[in-house]
Amino acid sequence: MDIPRIFNIAESAHRIHNPITPEKLATLGAALHLESGARVLDLGSGSGEMLCTWARDHGIVGTGIDMSVLFTEQAKHRAVELGVADKLKFIHGDAAGYVSEEKVSVAACVGATWIAGGVVGTLELLARSLRTGGVILIGEPYWRYLPPTEDVAKGCLANSISDFLMLPELLASFGRLGYDVVEMVLADQDGWDRYEAAKWLTMRLWLDANPGDELANEVRAKLTSEPERYTTYTREFLGWGVFALMPR
Ligand code: SAH
Repeated sequence: MDIPRIFNIAESAHRIHNPITPEKLATLGAALHLESGARVLDLGSGSGEMLCTWARDHGIVGTGIDMSVLFTEQAKHRAVELGVADKLKFIHGDAAGYVSEEKVSVAACVGATWIAGGVVGTLELLARSLRTGGVILIGEPYWRYLPPTEDVAKGCLANSISDFLMLPELLASFGRLGYDVVEMVLADQDGWDRYEAAKWLTMRLWLDANPGDELANEVRAKLTSEPERYTTYTREFLGWGVFALMPR
């Protein structure tokens, strides 16, 4: 079981697989007033940077589940590197339907809400692991500007304009689902660059090292087209943030 190989190639050097930066991840951790020993569940934990740095900085303990073999291995290495391997467990697997045995203080899905079929399903899934008084974290895109056409939405790699909401509407939708929005940390365009532009050098170095690979043509095509696509569409139109929610 693994995610499509193209993601493992393009994001092999990423510690964070999202437009949030290390600084903003630290801001979020501080904003949540995490207590030492607090239990955190992270569905789609990627290379584990959120859990590992929060375990180091705040003493949290927790579990991350991710479908990428490579990212899960990197998460385990990062935990050792930061001296927090005894606090964290990283599981390689499908997070769909995953409910923790012990209730958690923080239940997170940061940039992977398709795991449970979208924001609504992911909130329902995370809520099943949440202790009373706990916080849910959802990382999700929103429109900075509403795309004028469906083609622009597709340029942002969305299926349609209706995939995402404007920021106030996204916050209102959490309210309608019965949640207070109690914190948020928003990515900015520099953060998008750290996520997207960082893929380009990784792809170029991979291509130089793997010219005969079966994915070489696909990676070459992406490296050629991505800088222009990204700066025309995603960088301008798409926002991204992590939203902290508590059930009303
Ligand atoms: N939260 C991490 C990773 C976000 S990228 C971070 O912010 O860095 C999305 C992640 O979801 C990838 O690591 C991918 O491997 C993982 N993923 C995709 N489908 C999944 C599934 N069904 N179950 C678990 N993880 C999944």
